[in-house]
Amino acid sequence: MSAAEISTLTHSDAAQRLNQLWQRIHAAEATAGRAAGSVQLLAVSKTFPIEVVDAIASCGQKAFGENYAQEGVEKAAQRPDLEWHFIGPIQSNKTRGIAEHFTWVHTIDRLKIAERLSAQRPTELPPMQVCVQVNISDEASKSGCAPDTALALCQAIAAQPNLKLRGLMAIPEATDDRTTQRRYFAALRQLMAEINAANPSLKLDTLSMGMSGDLEAAVAEGATIVRVGSAIFGQRSYATNTNNPASTEH
Ligand SMILES: *Cc1c(COP(=O)(O)O)cnc(C)c1O
Repeated sequence: MSAAEISTLTHSDAAQRLNQLWQRIHAAEATAGRAAGSVQLLAVSKTFPIEVVDAIASCGQKAFGENYAQEGVEKAAQRPDLEWHFIGPIQSNKTRGIAEHFTWVHTIDRLKIAERLSAQRPTELPPMQVCVQVNISDEASKSGCAPDTALALCQAIAAQPNLKLRGLMAIPEATDDRTTQRRYFAALRQLMAEINAANPSLKLDTLSMGMSGDLEAAVAEGATIVRVGSAIFGQRSYATNTNNPASTEH
């Protein structure tokens, strides 16, 4: 289903899609021996119009993820009652809108971006909740800091006054092989444990990992937030939105 077709998503269609997804998440929690409700769902609404966000929100979903600063800021300004998470690559000239409109940022991979977000966070808002993005599968083309630099970056971010460091995020290379998926997610879980052991005051508690195609493997390895787009909203179409080059998509 394309973005245009889905723009009239009814309340009952939205409820059915969300229900099916929660069944997947709950089954994954049970298989992993984890408590029901230990995984949070971030609904990734990038490229879909605000009407579709409204339909999904009407079913009780509060947290929405966006990849593109301009699109995300526009949507967040229309629904300030929802919780907006920024999950895309961040250019330094786009930090202000993100600092003003988002509750979470999952994709900090260098200190300069963290410093700008902290400086630009409006003082009347609570600290921005942030994760460090780690390049866990070591692909040259993907963003994220190298695993061996994550501890230093976490410590520098923890010193920023208007940020609250929560954990780590990764987008491992796409693969259908469940064993490989789990290996990457396990590496992120272990890295968080190492960082907490090296600096217990950081108290990292969030692993943002798992998408439509690999959320079972991520939940098995301890994901606390799964970021799910197409399994809720359908296939994305970039044809009508030139602000959203498909080339920046993962
Ligand atoms: C698009 C995107 C998602 C959602 O991907 P789906 O495969 O549609 O579930 C999750 N995380 C990030 C960072 C994304 O860019």
